[in-house]
Amino acid sequence: MSFSSATKEEVANLRIKKPCCRLAAFAALVQLAGSLQLGAGGKRSVVLTTESYAVARWAVKLSKALYSLESVILVKEHKRLGKNRSFSISLSGEQEVMEGMLLDVGMLCQTEEGLTFGSGLNEALLKEDCCKRAYLRGAFMGGGSLSNPERGYHLEFVVRTSSLAGDLCRLLNEYDLRSKTVERNGAAVVYIKESERITDFLALIGAHGALLELETVKTNKEFKNGLNRRFNCETANIKKTVDASLRQKDNIRYLINHDAFSSLSPELRSAAEARIEYPEATLAELGALLDPPVGKSGVNHRLRKLERIALSLKDKKGE
Ligand SMILES: [Zn+2]
Repeated sequence: MSFSSATKEEVANLRIKKPCCRLAAFAALVQLAGSLQLGAGGKRSVVLTTESYAVARWAVKLSKALYSLESVILVKEHKRLGKNRSFSISLSGEQEVMEGMLLDVGMLCQTEEGLTFGSGLNEALLKEDCCKRAYLRGAFMGGGSLSNPERGYHLEFVVRTSSLAGDLCRLLNEYDLRSKTVERNGAAVVYIKESERITDFLALIGAHGALLELETVKTNKEFKNGLNRRFNCETANIKKTVDASLRQKDNIRYLINHDAFSSLSPELRSAAEARIEYPEATLAELGALLDPPVGKSGVNHRLRKLERIALSLKDKKGE
């Protein structure tokens, strides 16, 4: 099961205690996943579309509790589209009940000319903090999706109208979630990118299981990155040592090949011989091999001196 589906499953099992919050959650679900349909005899119904069975169950449960609506669930298989299946939930009821419900959720608005289609958020539903959170829960169930945290951090909502997208974006940002809107294939999309903001959102809607999962994946990823950084750093140090040793050996060979070796002091000669013989030894190891032994900085000093002599010789010869 994807991370997104698992989170929806978790949210579907959370109890919404207050009727005000239940209505706010249902309104968001209908606004994001629903479309209004006119049947025979002007009979209105709302059809919700979702890929999540948990969301389908949740929609039926809420519509029953709030309005005693009748529901029919249709399953569509789309093997060829790479998706598994989707569910259409058709909600219907008495004309007056349906009209009341559509007004409540903001799909219809009462104006002086009569009923019109509503396109934004019904502010009357969002007076309390509890209801705002419940609305966000419903929005996630109706149009939200979360990417698998192993692959990246992305939460988005696909929204019916750009005015509703703007409203949802503002509501999310009341909680400092830094959401943004974008148009994609003619649809309005509200998204959140930062992992901290996504965990804040999950906390806000009460999806604590998903929050924990995301935090665990993130911690593991950071630990792995830390190990990689350390490994890369060690590899770089080894490479530096090997490069220096090769350079020292080249310069010493140059001195030998140009008969400059015998004129060196015994200290320099012994350091040069040790380096040729033990190309992979560290400075401290080379120092311990000398007679009498010298410290790391002493060896470094001698090798640098050897290099300087070789370079000045090369210079003299114009090489
Ligand atoms: Zn409430």
